[in-house]
Amino acid sequence: MVEQKKVVIIGGGISGLTAAYYLQKDKREKQLPLDIKLYEASGHLGGKIETVKRDGFTIERGPDSFLERKKSAGRLAREVGLEDQMVPNGTGQAYILVKEKLHKMPSGSFMGVPTRIRPFLFSSLFSPAGKARAAMDLVKSKKQIEHDQSLGLFFRRRLGNQVVENLIEPLLSGIYAGDIDELSLQSTFPNFYDLEQEYGSLIKGLRKTVSKPPKNKPKPSMFRTFENGLSSLVEAVEEQLSPGVVQVNTGVDHIERKGDTYHLLLSDGTADKADAVIIAAPYFAAQRMLSQYEFMNKLKEMKATSVANVAMAFDAAAISKDIDGTGFVVSRNSKFRITACTWTHKKWPHSTPEGKVMLRCYVGKPDDQEVVNLTDEEITEIALHDLSQIMDINTQPDFSVVTRWHDSMPQYAVGHKDRLQEVTDHLERELPGIYLAGGSYRGIGLPDCIDQGEVAVEQVLKQLKL
Ligand code: FAD
Repeated sequence: MVEQKKVVIIGGGISGLTAAYYLQKDKREKQLPLDIKLYEASGHLGGKIETVKRDGFTIERGPDSFLERKKSAGRLAREVGLEDQMVPNGTGQAYILVKEKLHKMPSGSFMGVPTRIRPFLFSSLFSPAGKARAAMDLVKSKKQIEHDQSLGLFFRRRLGNQVVENLIEPLLSGIYAGDIDELSLQSTFPNFYDLEQEYGSLIKGLRKTVSKPPKNKPKPSMFRTFENGLSSLVEAVEEQLSPGVVQVNTGVDHIERKGDTYHLLLSDGTADKADAVIIAAPYFAAQRMLSQYEFMNKLKEMKATSVANVAMAFDAAAISKDIDGTGFVVSRNSKFRITACTWTHKKWPHSTPEGKVMLRCYVGKPDDQEVVNLTDEEITEIALHDLSQIMDINTQPDFSVVTRWHDSMPQYAVGHKDRLQEVTDHLERELPGIYLAGGSYRGIGLPDCIDQGEVAVEQVLKQLKL
């Protein structure tokens, strides 16, 4: 009889679910002798993906979409039968709030770096001196940095402080909820460094490499979700897993190597054994499970910031001064406490009933972490107060949904890639068959997490010689 190999996946967020899905797919298609188990500490799958339905609204508590350009999320969605439910985002005007005023995002900018000169020249976001400084990117010599540098340092050197503070920083903080002067270029946008090295200029490099949208055609939509929200993906993947694979309300507290087998101590006091383990849980959970290994302390050097958001539902009539756009991000030099706002009814019209409006505001700057612990009412009040400075909202929301995500945004600080490499090298040598996957490690976007789940499956199958 062929010996069964047991693979345990720890964490039922999108990374762990992807791993379970592709493992099971390989098991079915190649008749592999695999026994698969996924342990999830909380009572439900999805991790940061959580959609709620209320009064006809589809509300996301965590991520609201995925980048279509990165192929793995769309591929997974199609595999689990969600192709017909995929919805592109509405592509209205996006804004940046700088010093209490909304400015249009200059068209043709890619993560804040201009690819077209005219919209940038006419943008109200920058002074003539700021624009002249940004144009220096075209002539400024490149700088080779052997390892890593902060996003802030890199972009300030290329484009100057003003473009960084009024455009790049608010956009990047919207993704990483971190300090641009601490975040690693190598672990977030390594291609910008490559562009600098290859073309000597980010603007020139992007103009050469980014395809121009056809003239007089509407802006292409870059993001996708599903008619019934992102939780559809979680549910559809779960449906594909065989009964008994998933066990919720069961955390893995400790992992011990005994010969070629791993013994796992579970939060319900029982134990399990595995030939290979995919840890698809955040870095601090991974460190705790393997706390007897000193090399895992490297992960303790990581930090994660906390964020919260409030989705507020209104009657359309309650907004007497509306703005034509899909939302805005806030620059640090503004007095606003919210960091961004999505006009969800415009970005995702399918999510809001006719005649209604849904505004979703985010709080939790790196230097304003205490806001996350305020009450629901206080967070809603902060959002309404900030919004009232740019829109006329004449009533309280019909209802609001506040979500707090503690230690949810892993910070890829300068040197992250090297630190992670050190940990994975040790794992390979000392704990072969244990792999890390997920938002804490090699990319926080949903497609990045899906990629990591897929890669972990390949590594496991190779390790088990299957
Ligand atoms: P998680 O979703 O964190 O899942 C990890 C799971 O492991 C959790 O379910 C947890 O309970 C479980 N776990 C932890 N410890 C243990 C243990 N000891 N034993 C067993 N289980 C354990 N990305 C996008 O692409 N688009 C967006 O629009 C977007 N918006 C975001 C908005 C917010 C508010 C946040 C917080 C994130 C957003 N992201 C977005 C990032 C993205 O949501 C995450 O990076 C991604 O969901 C992480 O998935 P994961 O599976 O790696 O981790």
